[in-house]
Amino acid sequence: MMRNFYDIHTHHDSPYWSLRNITFPKESEDIIQENKWYSAGLHPWFLDPETSLYYLEKLHKITINQSIIAIGETGLDRKISVDIAFQKEIFYKHIELSEELKKPLIIHCVKAYSDILEIHKFYKPKQNWVIHGFQGNIEIALALQKKGFFLSFGENLLKSTKLQQILFEIDKNLILFETDVSSVSVEVIYQKATKVLNLDIEYIQKLIKKNLCNIFQQICLF
Ligand SMILES: [Zn+2]
Repeated sequence: MMRNFYDIHTHHDSPYWSLRNITFPKESEDIIQENKWYSAGLHPWFLDPETSLYYLEKLHKITINQSIIAIGETGLDRKISVDIAFQKEIFYKHIELSEELKKPLIIHCVKAYSDILEIHKFYKPKQNWVIHGFQGNIEIALALQKKGFFLSFGENLLKSTKLQQILFEIDKNLILFETDVSSVSVEVIYQKATKVLNLDIEYIQKLIKKNLCNIFQQICLF
């Protein structure tokens, strides 16, 4: 495994250290391989009032697995037709599971950052919350970091000068990188960050590893 690059959120099997998402119930714990790490959750896109509560029960059972080190992706998406109140209901269950199992939360958020902040204020979670594929503006980025959220950047960082500017301005102790559904390698995201931040690759590698170690103690044991 190429250890010096860390991919916090991917839907693919990766040659790098990665947190592969089990999009439940489309996928199951059957994809788990030895010595690899996973997150598992009900993605807001695939929620269905008929079945989601049943699958939450199942999720509860599979997330006890030690290879699943984070809960999610879960979250809120105001661009889809799934009722937002129902999305919230399912999101709360993931938060409770994350706190109960002491596993951090991986969050999908589209046009719902103020909801997420409000919910965070209400729950006062002990677990770290990671916004994957951050797409907000600088004010939102700073507001989230002020509350201790980690922000993860993916393929969009390659093209979006807005995101590049945000990455430049925010607290680097709360950033991560990911590939999500993209076929771009996580190494390419790291290389882009070296240019945006004007830092060398070794520095960025150490920084991201440190950030990850602050979230997942397990990965720093080897
Ligand atoms: Zn994803």
